[in-house]
Amino acid sequence: MDDSIAQLPAPGVVGPPEIGGEGAGGRRWVLSFREGAGRSRELLGGKGAGLAEMTTIGLPVPPGFTITTDASREYQQTGLLPTDLLREVQSAMTELEVSTGRRFGDTANPLLVSVRSGASVSMPGMMDTILNLGINEDVARGIAARTGLPRFALDTYRRFVEMFGKVAMGVETRLFDEVSAGLRRRAGLATDAELPLDLMPELISAYRGAIEETAGRAVPDDPHTQLEMAISGVFGSWNGRRAIDYRSYHGISHDLGTAVNVVSMVFGNTDNDSATGVLFTRNPATGERSLYGEYLVNAQGEDVVAGTTTPTDLGGLADEMPSVYAGLENAAARLEGHYGDAQDIEFTVEQRRLYILQTRSAKRSPRAAVKMAVDMANEGLITRDEALLRIDPEQLYQLMLPVIDPTARDRAIADGGLLSTGVGASQGAATGRAVFSADDAVEAKERGYDAMLVRPEASPEDVHGILAAVGIITSRGGATSHAAVVARGLGKPCVTGAESLHVDAEAGLLRYNGHTVQNGDLLTINGGTGEIFLGALETIKPRAADNPEIKTLLGWADAARRLGVWANADSAADAVTALEMGAEGIGLCRTEHMFLEPSRLKLMRELILAAHTSDGSEDEEADSAFESALQSVEEVQTADFEAILRTMGTRPVVIRLLDPPLHEFLPDYAELAAEVAELERQGGTSPELEGKRRTLEAVSDLREVNPMLGMRGSRLGIMHPSIYEMQVRAIVRGAARVSVDGTTPDPEIMLPLIADVGEMQLLRGRLEKVIEEMGEQLGGPAVYKIGTMIELPRAALTADKIADFADFFSFGTNDLTQTTYGFSRDDAEGKFLMRYVEEGIIPEDPFKVLDREGVGRLIRTGYGLGKGRKPGLQIGVCGEHGGDPSSIEFFHDVGLDYVSCSPYRVPIARLAAAQAAVRSAAKS
Ligand code: ADP
Ligand code: MG
Ligand code: MG
Repeated sequence: MDDSIAQLPAPGVVGPPEIGGEGAGGRRWVLSFREGAGRSRELLGGKGAGLAEMTTIGLPVPPGFTITTDASREYQQTGLLPTDLLREVQSAMTELEVSTGRRFGDTANPLLVSVRSGASVSMPGMMDTILNLGINEDVARGIAARTGLPRFALDTYRRFVEMFGKVAMGVETRLFDEVSAGLRRRAGLATDAELPLDLMPELISAYRGAIEETAGRAVPDDPHTQLEMAISGVFGSWNGRRAIDYRSYHGISHDLGTAVNVVSMVFGNTDNDSATGVLFTRNPATGERSLYGEYLVNAQGEDVVAGTTTPTDLGGLADEMPSVYAGLENAAARLEGHYGDAQDIEFTVEQRRLYILQTRSAKRSPRAAVKMAVDMANEGLITRDEALLRIDPEQLYQLMLPVIDPTARDRAIADGGLLSTGVGASQGAATGRAVFSADDAVEAKERGYDAMLVRPEASPEDVHGILAAVGIITSRGGATSHAAVVARGLGKPCVTGAESLHVDAEAGLLRYNGHTVQNGDLLTINGGTGEIFLGALETIKPRAADNPEIKTLLGWADAARRLGVWANADSAADAVTALEMGAEGIGLCRTEHMFLEPSRLKLMRELILAAHTSDGSEDEEADSAFESALQSVEEVQTADFEAILRTMGTRPVVIRLLDPPLHEFLPDYAELAAEVAELERQGGTSPELEGKRRTLEAVSDLREVNPMLGMRGSRLGIMHPSIYEMQVRAIVRGAARVSVDGTTPDPEIMLPLIADVGEMQLLRGRLEKVIEEMGEQLGGPAVYKIGTMIELPRAALTADKIADFADFFSFGTNDLTQTTYGFSRDDAEGKFLMRYVEEGIIPEDPFKVLDREGVGRLIRTGYGLGKGRKPGLQIGVCGEHGGDPSSIEFFHDVGLDYVSCSPYRVPIARLAAAQAAVRSAAKS
């Protein structure tokens, strides 16, 4: 035995047993389940807190105790178990002996325990657990004699050796598989055949021998030494690779540490009246209110969650063991009542007696999350506000994600492209190239293509692959296997238990029905139905707006929020989507986006070239070319505005006048120069060459060193008055056409990139004149709101002055972020921004999540100055941040009137705005 391990004091030395004597500084490292109720998850870990709560509300939990996360943190610092801790553990074990009537290490009536990790944040499968601790050869013999079940005794011992070897002694799973396969081969058995009883001792000693060889020491027989090593092992596993990966990915602090739970064993592997299983109080895929789960008869612990065997649907238990099933129903109802949330429960049945071994808030698909929240509020289990806070707005976004196009599916099925149907374990559709190892999935991602991770079963060691893949397929395991749980948590499509597939991960291929799928072949899965298809199938967007629970939830959100939610839409088609998604107006209609289509781009080019040639010239021909180009553009603009305004009815539509630098509409300088040179080389003159030369000249004149800060936005409007004037005429005329039918539209004219009130004043004057003229011409009232984007620091800082000439403000947070940081977004995101985030220089990409400290301060300032000068000033935001939940919370707090975001993010913004309102009401 390794004498570097501090010896546990013998029971007599510490005096009479008392649970958790005071440790150093009065701190207690150990709390029994009876004492833990009401203590924090931070202290007890999620599992420990759940066991304590369940014990207190009277559910059948085997007795045990929790070693707190304080001890773990101490261990992470020193690498040693505090001596006080060992003394407290000893006392707690003695207490456990009293309450179970068994003795640790006793051969006649032994107490066995599990040693289970449990951090405060749920990390499924990340940390390790050892079952059946306290067993050795003598104890196993004793169990066999007492129960008359020698196979059970040896199976229990075998499991202990294997788990102890892995968790406490760092031996790899592979080794046990090899040893076991070797033995079976020698005995002439099929790989997965049940081992005959007389070979079991041989297997155990082969395991022990292999562990000793690899780890350099034997599995200890002394139960106390086992316990101590197990506790260190669990603490040590906090810093295992997959635990670190999972925390890094989810942004969980590495300093939290894990608690350790020591639980007296109950045995689901006793006989055929025993079982182990997992239960969700509601269906985690659909949210339906009915027990959902799986179990295995005569099995222990990890068998269900490990996904090595495909378990039976929980419904079977209702027939096989009705009283146990009734006990589960009762436990499910009590736990939902206690926690006010759907739970994921682990249970074990020992000779028809039910024990609950774990409860936690159930992971769920986005669809299920919405249904559960709405149902639970309707059932009175939670309030509507709680229901609103339950849903991560990003989950709603996932509901807008693609599904496989039904016609493509039918076609694939007719063509024999349906490979297999497994268990639909995590919703969504995905297409990717088959890879057969987690590392390959990571590599594929790095090389920039989508990987479909295909495994016989996914173990916790595959987590990095699941993170990297677009979808996951396993041939074994059920809907509660590790792969399924992790995938659901990530919102990644996953199909498990596709048993007709023979996955040969080593060879990097899978066989089915006489065919093979090789590494790199395309596969498409539907994680809802469990279907796996060969090739890439078309996907379509679902109509989430039709889902009744989503409608209800968003209805509640609309009633709770203060912020308006508008959409950014550049076309009538976008506007239709925006309305379907619940937008109350259009906060940004980008007129330049109307010119991206080739025929229109041509018009725009003509306009720019004509403007360039006629500019300052006395050339009448050029002037008239310009006039006619302008008129053509005005016609299409008028039709566009009319269509959008008609779609939006009386809702506000904020139309931004031309913003980008003109050269963005022209061909690339270098390419054009090369073309001209080529034509010149061919010699002669042609109208084509002439045309290109003129264009090249214009492109060259319009080139800027730094276009982002160059002649764009209102600067352009000032320098080329005719363009803005044309756009305003188009707006007024488009609106007039709509009002003919009796609706009065609400177009609002927005000037981009104002830095100085002088610009605002000048442009406003000019545009008002145009509006007036148009009014006279069209014979209607012509009063229009004219406002500006606040997207330059100077505008925010002088917003009071600007407010004198503006009817509304809209914070353009994309440009405001660029100009506040002095970052050009394209360069920053492409080159250094991610490094900044990785190095922790800045916490997040400020183009995704608003920089509250800097940009946010400008927004507060601009808001205060604007409203201070003109209380009725309408102030919104139209950058991408308008669709980001965390930024939305900030905009709510500042007091903005509305946010505007892309149409598909409108539902997210509605929910996020409601959450912000509920949270701030709770604060005050
Ligand atoms: P995980 O976090 O991976 O779920 P657990 O600590 O919950 O790990 O344990 C793994 C499995 O072992 C679970 O199925 C659990 O129900 C079972 N188990 C843990 N402790 C006991 C016990 N005292 N008696 C019987 N089974 C147990
Ligand atoms: Mg585990
Ligand atoms: Mg568990």
